[in-house]
Amino acid sequence: MKPHAAATALLKRRLGARVDLSEDGRWAASFDSSKISFLPAAVVTPRQEADIGVVLALANRRRVPVTVRGRGTTLMGSAAPVNGGWVIDMRGLNRIRIDGDAGLAHVGAGATTAAVQRAADGQGWFYPPDPSSKEYCTIGGNIACNAGGMHGGKYGVTRDFVVALRGFLPTGEFVEWGTATKKFAAGFNLRDLWIGSEGMLGVVTGAVLKLIPRPAARWTLLTSFADEVSALAAARALFRQRVQPAICEFLDRESVLCAERATGRTVFPGQAGRPVILLELAGSVAEVDDLKVDVLAWAQRTARAHQEARSRAEVEQLWAVRRKCSGAMFELGDAKLNEDIVVPMRQYEKFARFLLRLKRASGLPIPTFGHVADGNLHVNIMYHRDNRAEARAAERAVQRLMETVVALGGAISGEHGIGLAKTPFLRLQHRPAQVRAMQAVKHALDPRGILNPGKMFDVVRIWQHPRLDLKLPWDHK
Ligand SMILES: Cc1cc2nc3c(=O)[nH]c(=O)nc-3n(C[C@H](O)[C@H](O)[C@H](O)COP(=O)(O)OP(=O)(O)OC[C@H]3O[C@@H](n4cnc5c(N)ncnc54)[C@H](O)[C@@H]3O)c2cc1C
Repeated sequence: MKPHAAATALLKRRLGARVDLSEDGRWAASFDSSKISFLPAAVVTPRQEADIGVVLALANRRRVPVTVRGRGTTLMGSAAPVNGGWVIDMRGLNRIRIDGDAGLAHVGAGATTAAVQRAADGQGWFYPPDPSSKEYCTIGGNIACNAGGMHGGKYGVTRDFVVALRGFLPTGEFVEWGTATKKFAAGFNLRDLWIGSEGMLGVVTGAVLKLIPRPAARWTLLTSFADEVSALAAARALFRQRVQPAICEFLDRESVLCAERATGRTVFPGQAGRPVILLELAGSVAEVDDLKVDVLAWAQRTARAHQEARSRAEVEQLWAVRRKCSGAMFELGDAKLNEDIVVPMRQYEKFARFLLRLKRASGLPIPTFGHVADGNLHVNIMYHRDNRAEARAAERAVQRLMETVVALGGAISGEHGIGLAKTPFLRLQHRPAQVRAMQAVKHALDPRGILNPGKMFDVVRIWQHPRLDLKLPWDHK
């Protein structure tokens, strides 16, 4: 008999067509962007949020694992149902209502980030968190991973924009953390405990998000540098001047070359193959005009070359090329250890030198790019899966990377979370007492351990698992 067969039959009787038992439906929900696959027993597509209470109450009674799924864009394996059971597909809960008076967005967890941004923009508001996957990923997934993106340095990450949450405890009880007010100091703050909890402490069905007025002016500058060390040193010098760009993206030379080859466009014409920093200032016209002077003086002092973007179309094209960086790297290998570490700004040059040594020692391409306003760098260790020597070198490189990041006072993840992929390194970041405290919270809210089990605390070496050989829609973008 298949695992959980009786409970699944009961679920089907309760929710009818909302429960998909087909092979195709279950396969499509068996993996996320990590491309490791575990077949669930059923996929539930709720029509209303109450359906989720029904699923969880039954799962809790029958001890059936439940994995919540937004769009499965996580690269960490966090949405892969490692222990089978049921997957809840949140895409249908996607309503969006903008409260233009209060500057708030009321959104269903299944709404995509880009749809929320467009709805806010339509009323003169701005929702800054912008993961590169924003056309696909959901607000529920962003909340569960505390997603960031290019605007993090100036505006903050998803956590900084969540005013209130609603959803279900693993027991199936409905809860609301906070109200649609910008202040709330009544009781323990479990809203913030849910943010970044990777679908392990509760299911988010809806959120109230804070919006900010859409900036009236934007200005974009491209700068190129002789090498990575001088680029990161320059970034540090900029922040020392107390200039806060809305976007400040670093691309090392390998990332520039990959993005250019994949898109057929140059990042910075005439500066092919040089590390770059792409900056955007945003604010009132006066504010941007004022800051421009400081930034241009900085560029003249530190950069090898600099150039203002001439039109909005040129700017959009530039960010589109930047967003393709991640997918573009697969020309260097068919496997990637995709790390989103955080380095304290004072360690930038030391870290840049370490990366050069790591590339030499491993013999692997390690294109690196990221958000230098908040130290969140995407280090991509590329290798060929069938080449055992390369796979071993990649494993050693990621271990050294994580040890170095922690030794420098940084973080093993800035925006992707732990999922399965970072489980071998959780204990590098946290003392045993800290891990035990997290496990105690998990046990208090989910005593039967049904919600997204097997993640975060169990050590899994994801790179040793077989991967599906398939292209996802966002791999092409
Ligand atoms: C090309 C590409 C670029 C990316 N760029 C960025 C980036 O710039 N910044 C960034 O931060 N991330 C980025 N990511 C990672 C990913 O898109 C984010 O982590 C995103 O937040 C995941 O959203 P999702 O809806 O796809 O969630 P999923 O992948 O479906 O799920 C992710 C986790 O959230 C949980 N979850 C999902 N919905 C809910 C819910 N309603 N309630 C409770 N738990 C839930 C799942 O159980 C799982 O643990 C990128 C990914 C790709 C593929």
